[in-house]
Amino acid sequence: MAGKKKEISLQVNINDDEQWGEVLATKGLTVVDVYQRWCGPCRAVVSLFRKIKNELGDDLLHFATAEADGIDALEKYRGKCEPTFLFYAIQDAGFVLLAHEEKTLTEAEAQDFYQHKSSESYFQELVRFMSSGPSHVLVICKADGCDDVIPAWREFIGPPDVEDAKRKQPDSLRAQYGTASVFNALHGSRDREVASRELAFFFPNFRMAMADPGSEQAGPEQEHVERTLALIRPDAARENREEILARIHAAGFTVAMQKEVMLSDEQVRQFYSSHQDEEYFPNLLENMTSGPVLALALVKEGGVEHWRNILGPKDLVRAKTEEPECLRAQFSSESSNINQLHGSGSSEEAEREIGFFFPPEQTLAVIKPDTQHKEVILDEIRARGFTVSRLKDTVLSREMAEEFYKEHRDEPFFGQLVDYMCRGPCTMLVLTKENAVDEWRAAMGPTDPGEARETAPESLRARFAKDILQNAVHGSSNAAHARDKIHFIFGDISSENELICDLEAEESFEELKNLQTSRSPSFHELRNQTEVNATDPEGGDEMTESQQTSPEITAVSDQTGTPETPGGSQHHDTGDPRNE
Ligand code: GDP
Ligand code: MG
Repeated sequence: MAGKKKEISLQVNINDDEQWGEVLATKGLTVVDVYQRWCGPCRAVVSLFRKIKNELGDDLLHFATAEADGIDALEKYRGKCEPTFLFYAIQDAGFVLLAHEEKTLTEAEAQDFYQHKSSESYFQELVRFMSSGPSHVLVICKADGCDDVIPAWREFIGPPDVEDAKRKQPDSLRAQYGTASVFNALHGSRDREVASRELAFFFPNFRMAMADPGSEQAGPEQEHVERTLALIRPDAARENREEILARIHAAGFTVAMQKEVMLSDEQVRQFYSSHQDEEYFPNLLENMTSGPVLALALVKEGGVEHWRNILGPKDLVRAKTEEPECLRAQFSSESSNINQLHGSGSSEEAEREIGFFFPPEQTLAVIKPDTQHKEVILDEIRARGFTVSRLKDTVLSREMAEEFYKEHRDEPFFGQLVDYMCRGPCTMLVLTKENAVDEWRAAMGPTDPGEARETAPESLRARFAKDILQNAVHGSSNAAHARDKIHFIFGDISSENELICDLEAEESFEELKNLQTSRSPSFHELRNQTEVNATDPEGGDEMTESQQTSPEITAVSDQTGTPETPGGSQHHDTGDPRNE
């Protein structure tokens, strides 16, 4: 039996590396509840364990709590602790999690998010609190699909004031988990409009299943967050781009994706296939191929209709006389009678058209040797909506690292770079997503972590890179490089699409790794293949026209070319380029 004295010391709080060492040296079994400062230890487990320990009275069984933030050996748990029981409560109460992301807001983002509270006395405190550590951001709906999730969630979390909540709704989440009025643990959107804004803030690419007109939810008076395709045709893209983008932002749209592309005749014919017999088609074709077009995926509640409303009439004469304030009237071309802006006709058409300009794309991502927080990076990759289509750990040979970075052969840092890349296992990933190449580079941030912390503090390199050389992650710089490097590392995977589908549902990266380790061809096999087309400078951003074959979309500026335009041969019932 444990004596009174031992009972007092049975629950140790481990605060630093030294204490951690002492606990490890203790004889017997030690169960440790690892927690992070922001959430604290699990009280339920702590008291349960105390009870077990008292009942068993086993001298060899020890219990401890340890804060991951202060103990080096627990570094890999940092950023990984999740209030699992809280999620369980949410799902138990009939809410379904549609999306989940762990995110640390910057001060600017917190200010933006809570701009409606900027005149409150506690605003600064709120902003500091919200940017002090990661929040879990959830998109939820009701399991039964018909209840209005917004009031249901607000009821479930309880009144904003924690004391109030404890008095009136002691079972509510704020009563249970809140500590003070600003620190009231949970947030819920106030109404549909706010929900849509907040959704676009955190998940600009999120596609609402509820936008499906076939679903029960889509009543005529209910608007949903929708994506729509906006095109700014060449003349306006050249002359009025900034003004038009400002109007888009002012109208409350979020720009989820953006790409400047030079379309070929063939691509215009595909995109406007249903207009080919119209008398205005030659003019449209000429205008659309006269320079780069700016394609935008816009997101907003009721986005499709809203965008069409602010565009105004297709006919420029009508637009100018009847709605002189509309975008088409204001940003018309002097040299063409073709209106300069396009908007999708319906939500389905929007998805098809977005797929044309932003087809699923693959990029090669690498988590470089010795990078800490690998699991956090992998989680974040998924949270950002990338599908991990391939994953394997590889230790590059010198030869292979030299080949991989051959474009940098003449750089003064080449030797260091090769040393670094082959000094331990790299995690090689093929990521699939619309606009994957650019989005992965944006997620990584600038090459130099010093610059990354200035310009993109949320980026992976800002958070995890050691210095400009050991910068944690790699990503292809354009679609052609992505294709080559994927081929170099994984061989020909274009015929293995069935695996990609299987993996989309895959939860465990460990399983994924096991599945894939054996799949890659040998280095020599790869080397033979890659030396044949060793033309592509990885460091450069230009792509030549000749590298593209129709119907690929050639991107100009630093945007990417795309490997395919799926659905391109299908009918596009786009109804608005004409000037009737
Ligand atoms: P990335 O595409 O952002 O990875 O950058 P680059 O293609 O220009 O460079 C490839 C890799 O070389 C970088 O990710 C760094 O690991 C390393 N690197 C780039 N520039 C420098 C530099 O100026 N000094 C050193 N030591 N390493 C560099
Ligand atoms: Mg590069």
